[in-house]
Amino acid sequence: LETKLPKVGTTIFTVMSQLAAEHGAVNLGQGFPDFAVPQRLVDELDAAMRAGHNQYAPMTGVAPLRQAIAEKALRCYGRQVDADNEVTVTSGATEALFNAIHAVVRPGEEVIVLDPAYDSYEPAIELAGARAVHVALDPQTFAVDWSRVRAAITPRTRLLLINSPHNPSGAMLDEADLQELTEILRDTGIFLLSDEVYEHIIFDGRRHESVLRWPELAGRAFVVSSFGKTYHCTGWKVGYAIAPPALTAEFRKVHQYNTFTTFSPAQFAFAAMIREQPEHYEQLGAFYQAKRDHFREQLLGTRLKPLPVPGGYFQLVDYSAVSDLPDTEFVKWLTVEHGVTAIPLSPFYEVPPAGQRLARLCFAKNQATLDAAIERLKKL
Ligand code: PMP
Ligand code: GLN
Repeated sequence: LETKLPKVGTTIFTVMSQLAAEHGAVNLGQGFPDFAVPQRLVDELDAAMRAGHNQYAPMTGVAPLRQAIAEKALRCYGRQVDADNEVTVTSGATEALFNAIHAVVRPGEEVIVLDPAYDSYEPAIELAGARAVHVALDPQTFAVDWSRVRAAITPRTRLLLINSPHNPSGAMLDEADLQELTEILRDTGIFLLSDEVYEHIIFDGRRHESVLRWPELAGRAFVVSSFGKTYHCTGWKVGYAIAPPALTAEFRKVHQYNTFTTFSPAQFAFAAMIREQPEHYEQLGAFYQAKRDHFREQLLGTRLKPLPVPGGYFQLVDYSAVSDLPDTEFVKWLTVEHGVTAIPLSPFYEVPPAGQRLARLCFAKNQATLDAAIERLKKL
């Protein structure tokens, strides 16, 4: 069989979660919380199902949720968003990313991605018949070198993908980054796809520099988020995209023949949560910051060296004091021999930096889970 995705195997998240299960390891690999969703959310879901919201939602998403998303965009980022023509609810951010890419990218075109990059981007680009052009982030700070982005632009460049807070590093774009990006894209026909799924997991009083705050960028952008991260329910797979009307129209052409629509009861539940419990997402940064700080403190008692974590729920650790194995071998060894599962960074790269010895640990876990992992990591 001549395959369409010859370079693609099973995603590293599935590989590592399976290995963790086989070996009874503490799974700090794949990113998902192991604690409960807010009780109110479960009650709202239950209420929505009992109220009979069990058939197809409108293709674009249910009106109360699109309205709540638009209100949140105004409240959080000062952007006036038209709920009818600029918001589309999707089955997770993964679907939104896929739709956005397929809505605008044509065969033979190029999409700039910043490495390390989340693993779903490139296959979606390739399935569109296009090519991912990889620009490396700084291997220590994961900052963007905008001169390299500028240099990567060709007449075939159709789309640029950014992700802040960044998976796997937690790095965040700041105002100067968005300013540079604005200047780079000005007078080009390049679209922007901004993956902001960790938008509410922000630490140390910093602010999330959403593309929605930047009118010139937002005018050419798809801004993607996911309720899985914000409401501790990665298994529900509900996300959305905000984009100007012309882009939203193209986005919906893909969405309607990809999934058509998304699980109805959850849409009503999220609408109620956004409207009636804004404190949930307003306090999410503080909630995760406490976990981050405690976990980092405990890591000081191990030979793993934690890197800074500005946002998101992943902690990168430098394991070079422990092992000289390449990262994928290291995380498998760590799972099998020490009972703790991590994610290697090399699957997020076209060309991993030589000699990089970093692994990603997810701290979206109960304290008992993190304590159990630390007990094991102390023995390294
Ligand atoms: N983008 C990034 C950067 C992510 O970390 C994730 C979730 N791991 C997604 C997209 C996908 O989100 P969802 O589960 O809502 O499809
Ligand atoms: N986004 C999650 C992570 O980075 C995993 C999602 C998935 O398993 N596809 O860990």
